[in-house]
Amino acid sequence: MKEDKRCIIGVDIGGTFFRIGAVDQEQNILQFQKVRVRNVIHSENVLDDLCNFLIDFMTKVPYKAEGISIGFPATIDRNRTMVVQAPNIRFMEQLPVKKYLEDAFHIPVYIERDVCMTMEYDLQKYHIPDCELVTGCYFGTGIGNAVYLNGRPLLGKNGAAGEIGHIPVDGSKKICGCGNVGCMESLAGGKYLNELAENAFTGLPIGEIFTVHGNDPRLKKFVQRMAQTVATEINILDPDYMIIGGGVPNMKDFPKEYFIEMTHKYVRKPFPEQNLTLIFAEDLEEKSVIGAALYARKMKEKA
Ligand SMILES: [Zn+2]
Repeated sequence: MKEDKRCIIGVDIGGTFFRIGAVDQEQNILQFQKVRVRNVIHSENVLDDLCNFLIDFMTKVPYKAEGISIGFPATIDRNRTMVVQAPNIRFMEQLPVKKYLEDAFHIPVYIERDVCMTMEYDLQKYHIPDCELVTGCYFGTGIGNAVYLNGRPLLGKNGAAGEIGHIPVDGSKKICGCGNVGCMESLAGGKYLNELAENAFTGLPIGEIFTVHGNDPRLKKFVQRMAQTVATEINILDPDYMIIGGGVPNMKDFPKEYFIEMTHKYVRKPFPEQNLTLIFAEDLEEKSVIGAALYARKMKEKA
């Protein structure tokens, strides 16, 4: 018998791991699990595998699930029913995820870009009030970007808005995960930092590179490009708040002051430069799962 309390099942789909949690109304995470993708998806029928993964988890949760909310590292169709393009989880592309799961579970299912789920968490955690525009740049393996307009993610004509990581960099010939050539993400994301660590600072664990080589011009250039990405978005949108998050800015001895200095350098004067609010968000394993639950509750409320 399930207890009377209710929860949302939050899921974060990654290229290597799936994270899943049951989140109660007070945003406490009741149960959390991190599972390798290959332990979830092992047959031709991807949606069936996903369904079984959810059933497995949900039977262990003592509360009644009132919704399922899933974040994908992907572009999503405008109606938020399926994954459109996802270089790290190709097996999820073009499948009717929302409909399939709603038919199976008979509760509302929400799907969204993972970065928006993370953003929901940060909006709450940093007490950001509902305002016209809040933007987030998350530097992980790639660059996640979210634009929030009056408390909701900006969708765009095709649902593909908020991809600042894919602004072109003049002269770059690097091929990006999205298929284009010369995207900023391939020069200012964690994947590039990894390459740099392997090629230029051989033998040093990546977690140490800012500590040991913080003044190396190649690392400074990398941080400068991160700042250029953020400044570009600020110059276009003049947001009320700009959240900076992800694994890279949370690395040990990340040169935050230099990053801030560079961001100010490239933002237009006198405004938005003089009135800039940058919020540095900490990185947390469960944040996108809790954020997914927050997202579901918000969508339910505003439906
Ligand atoms: Zn790209």
